[in-house]
Amino acid sequence: MTDVIVIGGGAAGWSAALAATQAGASVKLFEKLPDSGGSSAMSGGCLAFAGTDLQHTQGVSDSPDLLFRDLMDVGQEQNDPALVRTYCDAQLATCDWLRDIGVRFSPVIETASGQSVPRVHTVDPADAVRTLKAAAERTERLTYQADRPVAALETDTAGRVAGVRLADGSIERADRGVVLASGGFAKNAELLERYAPHYAKAVFVAGAGSQGDGLQMGLELGADLRDMDYVKGTFGKHPTDETNDHSLQAVYKGAIAVNQDGRRFVDESISYKLLGDAVMAQPWHTAYQIMDQGIFDTGDDRVRILDFGRRLEEGLFYVGASLRELAAQIEIDPDDLAATVERYNAAVDAGHDPDFGRTHLVHKHGRLRRIETAPFYAYPSTAVVFGTYCGLRIDPQARVLRTDGGPIAGLFAAGEVTGGFHGAAYMTGSALGKAIVFGRIAGTEAGRA
Ligand SMILES: Cc1cc2nc3c(=O)[nH]c(=O)nc-3n(C[C@H](O)[C@H](O)[C@H](O)COP(=O)(O)OP(=O)(O)OC[C@H]3O[C@@H](n4cnc5c(N)ncnc54)[C@H](O)[C@@H]3O)c2cc1C
Repeated sequence: MTDVIVIGGGAAGWSAALAATQAGASVKLFEKLPDSGGSSAMSGGCLAFAGTDLQHTQGVSDSPDLLFRDLMDVGQEQNDPALVRTYCDAQLATCDWLRDIGVRFSPVIETASGQSVPRVHTVDPADAVRTLKAAAERTERLTYQADRPVAALETDTAGRVAGVRLADGSIERADRGVVLASGGFAKNAELLERYAPHYAKAVFVAGAGSQGDGLQMGLELGADLRDMDYVKGTFGKHPTDETNDHSLQAVYKGAIAVNQDGRRFVDESISYKLLGDAVMAQPWHTAYQIMDQGIFDTGDDRVRILDFGRRLEEGLFYVGASLRELAAQIEIDPDDLAATVERYNAAVDAGHDPDFGRTHLVHKHGRLRRIETAPFYAYPSTAVVFGTYCGLRIDPQARVLRTDGGPIAGLFAAGEVTGGFHGAAYMTGSALGKAIVFGRIAGTEAGRA
């Protein structure tokens, strides 16, 4: 007899499985692929937590309330405040929960999208998923089956979700509930065309299982959807290099972004998801992050998105002894690039950017820097869709809601299959954070249902 079935073994699924076993439930986790991990295991491992001892040790003053304000701000108030509040209230205890099972955090990093103070807590993502799985296995209440895709949800005569049908046709029953933790749909061309046609030319990097299976299963039972208009890519992906899955955020250290006409087109300090939208609207869906040696020297080899040195070694930067020489290499009119940088430097000096209103390096953090010391660098950048961050509507107990607002009995969801938490854009660390925080809530709620 199984109490709880979890569909998918990423950060959300393993968090749900562990929490459900800790609530005393017997749990079965079905993973579609031969190995679990999903997008979670290949992610940057950044988690948005606020008010931790790590921040305190590093002299960072933060709080769940400030996190709440930042998340609502980044989401342009389109996110569900009840979900955001739930995350903010639960994240500190969840951070401790992870530490208690052996997840290790690196020092908090300075530069991240949408944060008014540094709050990115980094983990080795594959190791964190393995640690969650190992902790669930240690409870001896878990059965794990890989290579077993779930095809559909099964309901009883009262319409309550009572189990699942696997792809081989077999039925598995769950007495207390089913947790959908099957990730997003960044690998499903049809769903992308339906919900994110504006990203047709972007690069897509996500777990192979991100096919939107859970989204479709929820829809079949009348689930409501949230944030479907806000699928966004992350700015800063090299358009042709396939060795680096991650983006590079030189803009958050002071670089500017210019298009093929040599013009800036956006306030570079905003969420890299909004920068993703902006770059998709430029000619060839591409821009260059332009910086000088002074900005280059502030790169950080501990943080993938700021590791300028590694990308230089890999030959991905254009380097010019002067701005004009750099412009010639990237086929931008040298006069146009020089004029853009001159105008930007004047804006930095004046403390007023008349073109785009940029006031900080990133969000409300960091002083702008002039671009003036040779050599100069250009990093070609388009947008990469790492995840879809929209989907099934849930309530603070992670219950999946129908379009009439009522819960679908027996059905919980967590992680990237859900919508409503991010709203219009995304703060660094909030997707992996959401997967773990709401995975834990879903597992706890289903486990004691
Ligand atoms: C390269 C990259 C970098 C990222 N970096 C960050 C970051 O630093 N910080 C951050 O906050 N976010 C980041 N993200 C986003 C974040 O990692 C994801 O949103 C989050 O990890 C999703 O977790 P999940 O558990 O919901 O889904 P996943 O981790 O994708 O797990 C879903 C699992 O469900 C399985 N599955 C799917 N369908 C079925 C089915 N029918 N039956 C059974 N199993 C199924 C999948 O195979 C997969 O194993 C990044 C994403 C990528 C790709």
